[in-house]
Amino acid sequence: MMQFHNYIGGQWQKPSNGLWCENAEPATGQTFSQWPDSGSEDVAAAVASARQAFPTWSSLSAEERSYWLMVLSDGIQEKLEEFAQAESKDNGKPVVLARTVDIPRAVANFRFFAQAITQFSSESHSMGSEGINYTLRQPIGVVGCISPWNLPLYLLTWKIAPALAAGNTVVAKPSEMTPYTAHLLAELCMEKGFPPGVLNLVHGKGASAGEAICQHPAVKAISFTGGTATGKRIAGIAAPAFKKLSLELGGKNPTIIFADCDYQTMLSQTVRSSFANQGQICLCGSRIFVERSIYEQFKADFIQKILLLKPADPSDPATRFGALVSEGHMTKVLDYIRLAKEEGGIILSGGKRVLLEGRCREGWFVEPTVIEGLPYDCRTNQEEIFGPVVTLAPFDTEDEVLQQANSTEYGLSAVIWTENLSRAHRLASHLEAGIVWVNCWLVRDLRTPFGGVKNSGVGREGGMEALRFFTEPKNICIRYGA
Ligand code: NDP
Repeated sequence: MMQFHNYIGGQWQKPSNGLWCENAEPATGQTFSQWPDSGSEDVAAAVASARQAFPTWSSLSAEERSYWLMVLSDGIQEKLEEFAQAESKDNGKPVVLARTVDIPRAVANFRFFAQAITQFSSESHSMGSEGINYTLRQPIGVVGCISPWNLPLYLLTWKIAPALAAGNTVVAKPSEMTPYTAHLLAELCMEKGFPPGVLNLVHGKGASAGEAICQHPAVKAISFTGGTATGKRIAGIAAPAFKKLSLELGGKNPTIIFADCDYQTMLSQTVRSSFANQGQICLCGSRIFVERSIYEQFKADFIQKILLLKPADPSDPATRFGALVSEGHMTKVLDYIRLAKEEGGIILSGGKRVLLEGRCREGWFVEPTVIEGLPYDCRTNQEEIFGPVVTLAPFDTEDEVLQQANSTEYGLSAVIWTENLSRAHRLASHLEAGIVWVNCWLVRDLRTPFGGVKNSGVGREGGMEALRFFTEPKNICIRYGA
């Protein structure tokens, strides 16, 4: 049994309450590791160490902090295979996905913000002969970073890299379901002599360790990615304490397909945008709207492709579709499939748990599932399932599809497939989403603002937006005098 520890002040620390929790491998259902069930005392120790490290870290030059981020970026790159294997074991995702997407992206996150901080500048406002204002962008102090289980190292580093680059010190909590690669990152920090106390990792449950981070008075900003209900709770804690808050929350994203699209590209990319990481990516498109004239053809071709996506052992390099992250999550997804049937949905493909043979016989696998025949405003089409379940619906007009696409409480991302340039621009401007992809999906430029509208979040991550979030602007007004 592996045992992970908290990483506080540059050292391993056991939980002060002596409590541990067990973590299972989704592909087998078997427990393989233990993590500290940390409480507010552990968080307090982490915050104390971050506070102690802050004066030195924040007074380093941008180039010096950039150097340290590159050390972490290079260090992950050197151990890419170890990180990828760990992520796949912990999360149930195909190892090939961890190797080609998750871990390379963690490397890129550190490298990107290592470079970005050297280019980060602040504003000045001339008042002519009277004087000048200039704005300092100063680090906030100790910041909290809380991330989910679906892209564990990818999203953890997406937060801590800009926070550290901007000169803050960090207390971070990975999801209790996927603590493994955060542990490896801490191990790397120790190996490379990363300055102690600058990054602290506390493992634990959301309701105890997570909430303790949000409540600690010395944590001045919180960057959170996770579910909308959790985000609401965190906002309730942070707002009365006037903490800065960035919330990246759930989604129920539309994929809108017009008859004039590049059909083959659309088809293969829609398989990806529906079922990558078993549909457990906040940006996956779970409601597919297809123009009526190609609806039947799309349905037949899409299902033919989906039938090739066989749930299998994630550690097998040939596997493209792995396990769901936990038994609880699998049950939630199966409950939604049951609900869809009650609401009148027709299961075109999938719909069941898969029991594999051998090593994975007790794993948490669900078939990729395609449903049609549901009204756009039913619960299945309005609530986030966050699993391998998509619905199909035909549409006739642009106005109709726009209204249905915008009908949920969420507004994270959307995809449009069309070769009609005017229509693409028109729809993109009217879709209620923070990110719109036209004729592609998940193409990412780390400089762009990332985040959602409506109940999908508050604030933006990415590029200079993240560096602005993790700094406090201070205006200095100079009068020239006579
Ligand atoms: P949760 O909201 O359950 O958890 C996210 C993180 O918050 C975890 O580390 C969790 O800890 C912690 N947490 C839980 N409760 C609290 C609390 N009361 N106070 C502080 N921290 C808490 O989300 P999931 O992990 O289930 O992730 C799935 C969700 O994340 C989906 O809704 C998905 O759409 C969203 N998401 C959004 C993205 C975006 O960019 N907008 C990207 C990726 C996912 P623990 O796991 O230990 O409970």
